[in-house]
Amino acid sequence: MDSQKWDYEIFWIETIKRIQSEITEQEYTMWFKNMLYTGSEESVIMLSVPSSFYKDQIIQRYLNRIEDTLLELSGQNIRVEFNITKRADNKKENKKPEEIKNPHAVDVQKKPKHRQLNNEYTFERFVVGDSNSFAANAAYSISRNPGKGYNPCLIYGGVGLGKTHLIQAIGNSAYQEFNNLKISYITAETFANEFIFSIQKKSGHLFKNKYRSIDILLIDDIHFLQGKEGTQEELFHTFNALYDSNKQMVFTSDRPVSELRSLSDRLRSRFERGLNVDLQPPDYETRMAILNRKIEEKRITISSDIIELICRNIKTNVRDLEKALTKLIAYSELVNKNITLETAQRQLQDFFAQPNHKNITIDNIQKVVAEYFNLSYNDLKGKKRTKAIAFPRQIAMYIAREITEYSTTEIGLEFGGRDHTTVMHACQRIEDRLKSDATLEPTIQHIIRALKGYGV
Ligand code: ADP
Ligand code: MG
Repeated sequence: MDSQKWDYEIFWIETIKRIQSEITEQEYTMWFKNMLYTGSEESVIMLSVPSSFYKDQIIQRYLNRIEDTLLELSGQNIRVEFNITKRADNKKENKKPEEIKNPHAVDVQKKPKHRQLNNEYTFERFVVGDSNSFAANAAYSISRNPGKGYNPCLIYGGVGLGKTHLIQAIGNSAYQEFNNLKISYITAETFANEFIFSIQKKSGHLFKNKYRSIDILLIDDIHFLQGKEGTQEELFHTFNALYDSNKQMVFTSDRPVSELRSLSDRLRSRFERGLNVDLQPPDYETRMAILNRKIEEKRITISSDIIELICRNIKTNVRDLEKALTKLIAYSELVNKNITLETAQRQLQDFFAQPNHKNITIDNIQKVVAEYFNLSYNDLKGKKRTKAIAFPRQIAMYIAREITEYSTTEIGLEFGGRDHTTVMHACQRIEDRLKSDATLEPTIQHIIRALKGYGV
């Protein structure tokens, strides 16, 4: 068969032109510049992309649009297929990797591991869902265009949600992509210790030189710097030096900058200057996707009902999901048997029984909510049904349901012996209201944060 017959390249070129005119330049650069037309078959266009992360993102974001445009232009149903080609520079069309003369280009396979980075923390291994897609996309974009777009970038979120994984993925990806870039990953704690050491040893100039000559500076867990004035001061100067010469900086923190305490105003304003993105706890579908990926990586098989059991019960963060999986694997190796649903349930009992926020009781919640709404604790628990009391009571029930593992029956009992259906109804009311009232979510988050510091 004449292979020329299936050459759809002109339609492809026209399609990307159209899409380019419809999206922002940044989006175009991020997603389309690294995509390369490699050929056609009957009703199929083949493209190469640099990674599976990239492929998933393109499919999710643009596949419909691409295929619709191809249909419109060619009058045919042309599908798009992606091949992952780990070439260092896809922009150089029709050249084999050896021929690429880009000084930054490297062979992904050959480059040794960056000594400060864990090479398992890559974008390929990072599962993207609603809870983390903004942060993951920003991180990916930074790794491809360091110093050119989102600078600085601060990724924040609770423990075990993937901050370290993402910040290191930026380092790993940029390290493979570019030669001659100095990339440094460090925790804020190590940064502080090195700084103090340099003062003691009177080698401050070496410390300054070291950090001010870096191209991509990645500092993990900056909440650690709270109250550390000297280190903050030093970081402030490092920041300015790097920022002025368009060097990329990425930070992570366990909370938004506005909630960091004992932080100098000028450093705070620097952190806030660039892009601030958050990581949220994964939803059920993302938890399933993550767990399935981990199981695949470990090359083991676990039945889907056990995977569902874990994902239904562990809602806190990815680290807890991993711990549950590790425990099951360890058990199955120990007894040298496949795991059944019953054993899984028994083995993971402790994990499941733990409330998400250890030691938070319904009583704690009632006190904090009462205080927040300026009500008496007894009224909140009592029988009165005026609106001024009923609404805070519903919020308290909702929070109890969300952040503890108490059943609706147990919650009802704590609220003056109410029935579990009352609790369910209250939770439903709050959920409905959350959809229409944008101020409610911050209120609830505020109360939850207050609870974490409350007698626990
Ligand atoms: P943090 O720094 O926010 O406390 P980590 O980055 O250490 O969290 O993540 C905890 C664990 O969960 C790590 O093993 C990490 O690889 C894994 N993890 C977190 N998010 C994801 C994700 N979206 N996909 C795959 N693994 C993830
Ligand atoms: Mg971390």
